[in-house]
Amino acid sequence: MLVKKKILVTGGSGFLGSHLADQLIRKNNSVICLDNFCSSSSDNISHLISHPDFRLIRHDISQPFHETVDEIYNLACPASPKRYQTDPIQTMRTSILGAFHLLDLARNLGCKVFQASTSEVYGDPESHPQREDYWGHVNPIGVRACYDEGKRCAETLFFDYRRQHGLGIKVARIFNTYGPRMQAEDGRVVSNFIVQALTNQDLTIYGQGEQTRAFCYVDDMIEGITRLMATPDEVTGPINLGNPSECTVIELAETILRLTGSRSRLVCHPLPQDDPRQRRPDITRARETLGWAPRVPLEDGLKATIEYFEQHLSRPDRQLPA
Ligand code: NAD
Ligand code: UDP
Repeated sequence: MLVKKKILVTGGSGFLGSHLADQLIRKNNSVICLDNFCSSSSDNISHLISHPDFRLIRHDISQPFHETVDEIYNLACPASPKRYQTDPIQTMRTSILGAFHLLDLARNLGCKVFQASTSEVYGDPESHPQREDYWGHVNPIGVRACYDEGKRCAETLFFDYRRQHGLGIKVARIFNTYGPRMQAEDGRVVSNFIVQALTNQDLTIYGQGEQTRAFCYVDDMIEGITRLMATPDEVTGPINLGNPSECTVIELAETILRLTGSRSRLVCHPLPQDDPRQRRPDITRARETLGWAPRVPLEDGLKATIEYFEQHLSRPDRQLPA
């Protein structure tokens, strides 16, 4: 019989955190969701608020925190370039001070701690597809550095706590993930294109749209994350989690136009500074260590996401993105 655990999920009201909370509760655990709501609202967790196994604490992880728990998942950090660049200093504080506080908490409690790292640690990669032993190509002083270098420093801290204190750590490098509960207005490409297509606005292609990404559906990602957490102590990562099926931004836009039946136009805008030209995970390590690979094809995942936004945008209290 599975033992009920008390699990801390930081960033638990965000896109991934709220799906993770659902999954952990479904598996008979109790969840403490810690969030400062800087890149989410409570909408994503409104269905959990009165659940007996769910508790919400409003807190900023750059400040110390204490609670007795059995496991910690650290997902707190704005993930979209628009959001993390709004207050870059706070993004750094979140990644670095947040990592210190959660690692200290895990050390005091003797519990495992998961870190949501990112494909952004590879920067604008010169090695393709990206394997975990590639050290990356990051501009340390550019506009994306607050996120990329913050996450890189957090990884360093996780591995130093492992080496110095023997802590049980699990580091996942998450590649672009999409699905229901993305914020309509946070600027990520999948949510932007779907909302633009559904509201007959032009689709905003940055650059010529030739840059590539590989998009993973949220259910696959949550499965990968929880499998990693369940591995024996010697499995620390870093481990890539993502869908190796790569497409250009133009291809993504055309697929979304076809699936929505939209007549929106594709309009090119300047490419943001340091925007990575290509990205695709090598998931050999995840396949071999976790027996995991994504199962949801892009079109199926996009259909579910489009359905979510159709319902969400029709609510009278919702704002459309600027
Ligand atoms: P999100 O912005 O939807 O969720 C992040 C959550 O963290 C939000 O609820 C936000 O309010 C909260 N938060 C931010 N700073 C905080 C702080 N200082 N204290 C407490 N709460 C704070 O993003 P997401 O897509 O759910 O991403 C979750 C995690 O996964 C992030 O750490 C992100 O870096 C990582 N990640 C996500 C992706 C992706 O494609 N979604 C890719 C790579 C890595
Ligand atoms: N992008 C785009 N139009 C948009 C939003 C994003 O062309 O409206 C591009 C962006 O320049 C990047 C890719 O889509 O090349 C993915 O962007 P996103 O912000 O979703 O994620 P990230 O850059 O962090 O991978």
